[in-house]
Amino acid sequence: MRRISIFGATGSIGQNTIDLIARAPDDYDVVALTGAGNIAQLAQDAIRLRADIAVTAEEGRLDELRDALNGSGVQAAAGAAAITEAASRPADWIMSAIVGAAGLAPGLAALGQGSTLALANKESLVCAGHLVKSTAARHGAAILPVDSEHSAVFQALIGEDMSAVERIIITASGGAFRDWPIEDLPKATVAQASSHPNWDMGQRITVDSASMFNKAMEVIETREFFGVDPDRIEVIVHPQSMIHALVGFNDGALMAHVGPPDMRHAIGFALHHPARRHLPVERLDLVAIGTFEFRPPDEARWPALRIAREVMARGGLSGAVFNAAKETALDGFIAGHIRFTQMADVVADTLDALDARGGHIDATMTLDNVLEADHLARKAAELAIKKRAG
Ligand code: NDP
Ligand code: MG
Repeated sequence: MRRISIFGATGSIGQNTIDLIARAPDDYDVVALTGAGNIAQLAQDAIRLRADIAVTAEEGRLDELRDALNGSGVQAAAGAAAITEAASRPADWIMSAIVGAAGLAPGLAALGQGSTLALANKESLVCAGHLVKSTAARHGAAILPVDSEHSAVFQALIGEDMSAVERIIITASGGAFRDWPIEDLPKATVAQASSHPNWDMGQRITVDSASMFNKAMEVIETREFFGVDPDRIEVIVHPQSMIHALVGFNDGALMAHVGPPDMRHAIGFALHHPARRHLPVERLDLVAIGTFEFRPPDEARWPALRIAREVMARGGLSGAVFNAAKETALDGFIAGHIRFTQMADVVADTLDALDARGGHIDATMTLDNVLEADHLARKAAELAIKKRAG
């Protein structure tokens, strides 16, 4: 029996992970499940999977969680510290699928006890790539990608020598507004941005797909995961979302990873790695699909892609600033304080504001410094939002 924990169990990635493990309950001993607002789902899954402990991030809802678990034998806990404590419980495989920078501390705790970390929480690598990787190395822990593009690159690199890699190409569907006239983008509503043409995901990453902030994060994630220079990482728009990434080698070969847009593939690959096991995903009928389409990424439409390159050039803690500014701008858009197109302006202003202040962006990458940069960036981004909200 493998001991496993799922952080962000109530979310889109978490529920897909549970779908896979619930098909083979005798193979897994579930240690911890965590969620935030969705107490009913958390309790239901914790009871069904006989978890040792269920933890909600929302401190004030401990009693509600306790009531929902009453008589089941599953322990209840609440708050950010309790989530990190649960990540320190010994487990063989841990899914990191909390959304946002809140996933960083539990991920580090999981790596600190040598677990294999299946990483969906790309924010960890964007905010603190060096810290995450050095913690894994120190404790002999493995990190496996769950983001579909990075799982695709990882699979294309099996048995290959990194010195033969010329470039990595990650694909982007283009999100909800791919075909909109650019001049209409300022009018985009939250509801329109929250609907993805191909993938069924959480709301935040869906809006980030429409703005390409998701792809911007993934370019940085690619650099951190595979150690390639930024100028060897390309983004192309591929509306069908079936080729997830391609690796270009020094003999001119391109190895593409092709599969249905279903996160259970990448989750299942990370769950069974290094084996490949049967997964309940659609088998593609290439003749029925007929054509794969590719387009260049237009930086006028998606300024987030240019900002990601600036972040990589700035280095230091600018990834943490970038992520925090992006999360705050996204909150501002969802709350109706800024327009869709102003999210990129808020992020760019925040990076400039903290750069100008100096010190913080170049500080050493410790968890405390990353959290401090995150905190300052959220304050600066809120100011930038206020300025625009009038
Ligand atoms: P969801 O919004 O669907 O789920 C997020 C999860 O995190 C939920 O369990 C939520 O709890 C929990 N949560 C929210 N806030 C906090 C907090 N402050 N502390 C602790 N837990 C919290 O997100 P997704 O599943 O879509 O995404 C999860 C991660 O995976 C993100 O980093 C995303 O970028 C990445 N990812 C997602 C993909 C997808 O297909 N969805 C694809 C590739 C990467 P609750 O729901 O109970 O409030
Ligand atoms: Mg992705």
